[in-house]
Order: sequence, then structure tokens, then C-alpha cells
Amino acid sequence: MKKNYLDDIQDTLLLGAGPSGVAPSTYRAISTNIIGHLDPYFIEIMEQIKSGLRELMGTQNEVTVPLSGTGSSGMEAAFVNTVERGDKVLILENGVFGNRMEDVASRLGAVVTKEEFEWGTPVRPERVRELLAQDHYKIVAIVHAETSTGVRNPVEEIGQIVHDAGSLYLVDAVTSLGGIPVEVDKWHADICYSGTQKCLSCPPGAAPITFSPAAMEVVANRSCKVPNWYLDMNMLTKYWGGSKRVYHHTAPISMMFALYQAIYNIQAEGLENVYARHMRVHKRLVAGLEKLGLKMLVEPQYRLPELNTVLIPEGIDEAKLRAQLLDKYHIEVSGGLGALAGKVIRIGLMGYNATDENVDRLLAAMKEIMADMAASSAA
Ligand SMILES: *Cc1c(COP(=O)(O)O)cnc(C)c1O
Repeated sequence: MKKNYLDDIQDTLLLGAGPSGVAPSTYRAISTNIIGHLDPYFIEIMEQIKSGLRELMGTQNEVTVPLSGTGSSGMEAAFVNTVERGDKVLILENGVFGNRMEDVASRLGAVVTKEEFEWGTPVRPERVRELLAQDHYKIVAIVHAETSTGVRNPVEEIGQIVHDAGSLYLVDAVTSLGGIPVEVDKWHADICYSGTQKCLSCPPGAAPITFSPAAMEVVANRSCKVPNWYLDMNMLTKYWGGSKRVYHHTAPISMMFALYQAIYNIQAEGLENVYARHMRVHKRLVAGLEKLGLKMLVEPQYRLPELNTVLIPEGIDEAKLRAQLLDKYHIEVSGGLGALAGKVIRIGLMGYNATDENVDRLLAAMKEIMADMAASSAA
């Protein structure tokens, strides 16, 4: 018999930067039998997903849909629909995903100003105020939860400034949605997108996105067509909205079942309870790490509960630590990116996996590995 590689997949506890763990109910949802993508019952499920996403994202925006693609397709859609050649875009960067935004926007011919803030620290609203007093930008973009550093950016305060300046406000909420409050309308965010495999605890494959009426007006009144057929919101809204559905592309039905279930699970637990759980397990983790003598990269008030960046002291090989966690304990955590590579590990406590038991299991494993490493370096 030909070997089936799926038979040997390990049951890994996913405590990295994503993908996160998937609830059994969501695994079951994926294996639900497929129905047609224009079947009235599927359309009803689409409506349920749209209204669920509005609740999770804190918005009344009519245009609130899941895109067929991972979180990065949300980023692509956000820019490709709104940017035209020569448009001025301000990107507030304090990590890898801010840099990805710069790449995406500049490929579209935007004139990008990237304002850099030190990694591990938040974007400073006073600086944004200064920049917007000096120049007008069509779009100001920021990452709410910077997964590369574990920083929570003050998106609400900055949103007020951007709104007052009359720019479109574009917010990446890939790692925040389902982990910490996302309040699109309160923040004056015009475009906000997320992904399914972070705190929504779904497999990777869809990107919830929302456009304010002002943003949709910009999309509708472009001087040229959206230069990407697949992510053109003018066309996608005809498939996802209205009473008469027009075929655009076939929705990934099983992925939509999974997303439906993931939203259902969050609503059943209650949004506030979900946020409180993330905060509780985060505090438990930090207390345990400090007991092991480890320190966090980010100041307490800017920390993301769902993404914990831990400084690894000289003398401990972080790659070895992560390899042992995976090989011996079947736990995945993530390494550092960019300038933080080799200096930190990133521990995700996202969605279904954000539990006290998982924190304790990780801490016990880290304690054993670190004791072993100390003993072997002393020998
Ligand atoms: C993971 C992530 C993305 C990209 O999502 P993919 O699903 O990997 O395409 C974008 N922004 C942030 C902040 C992320 O954490």
C-alpha cells in the first residue's frame, strides 16, 4: 500500500503565532456535506456569517464579508480597492505586517510614506497628529495587533485623529479579532480585515473584511477598474449581498461552514467572556514565565494577551528550545522575525487554545527544557 502521509500527522498543541487550535465542533463543521453555493440554504448561512462578523467587528457596515483567501488577501483587498496610482498612503509601521502593507501599497503605485516606530513599542498618536498636520493622505494604515512583536496599537485614539484629518482609516485586525475587542465603528475605521486562523480558531483560508459606506464610495468612484478581478469589492458585493446573487467565484463552502461554526462558538461563549479568558490565561502565562526568570519584550500596558513575546536570555538557544518543545512535548511556539530573530520566542494564546491547562502544560515543558539546558552547559 502506498504510504498516506496524513496518517502520521502529530497532534500538536499550537501555541505559536498562528495557525491556532481548532475546536472539535469546527472540525466537524468542515466535514459537513457540501451544498450548492447558490443554494438558498447556503445563502442563509452566508447571511448568518455576515451578521456574525458585524457583531464581532463592532460595525453596522453593510459590506462585511469573508474573502476567499488567508489574512493577506484581506490586506490586498483593502489596498487594491482603494488605491489608485499616485495616491498618498501613510503607513504606521512597528513590525513585519506594517512592512507588508508598504509592499502591497507600493506595488499598486501608491506614494507611500512609512513612519517607523521602534519594534516592541506602540505607534505614538502625537506623531500621527504631527504627520497629518503636515500633509494630507488618502489612506492611513495601521496594524491593531502586531503579531511580530506582540504590541497592541492605540487604534481608537489614532482613528479619531485620522477621521478628523479626512483620510480613510485602514486597520489590520488579523490577530485581534476574537481575542481582544475590535470596534470598527467606534474607531472610525473605514476598512478593517482579519483572518480565520488566529483568534477565530478556524483553519487558514478566509479573511473577514468590512468597508464603511465612505470607503465603498471611494471604491465605486474609482477612475479605473480595481486592478484585481478576484478581490474587486464592486463585484464581490453582488455575490455576497442583495436579493439577487450574481455568480462571481465559488465560495469555499467547507471553509464557510467552519467560519460559521467558529463565529457561533464565540457568540455562544459570549464576546466579553472570550476576551476575559484571553486576558486571564495571558496573566497566568506571564506570571509563570517570570517565575522561570524570563522577561517580556513589551511593556505591560501595550501587551497583546493573545501574542506573548518573550525575551530569551544569552546562553539559551531559542531555536533548540522551540525544537525540543515540538519534538518532545508536541507544542509549537514561534520564533522571532526580522531584527528579533534569535532573540525572542512568540507564544500565542489564541481562541480555542487559550486555556489555563495549555498554559500550565507549556510552562512545565519549558521548565524541564531550561533545566536540562542549564545542567548540560554546566557539565
Ligand atoms: C497573520 C497575519 C497576517 C497575514 O495573514 P495570513 O493568513 O498569514 O495571510 C496579516 N496581518 C497580521 C497582523 C497577521 O498576524
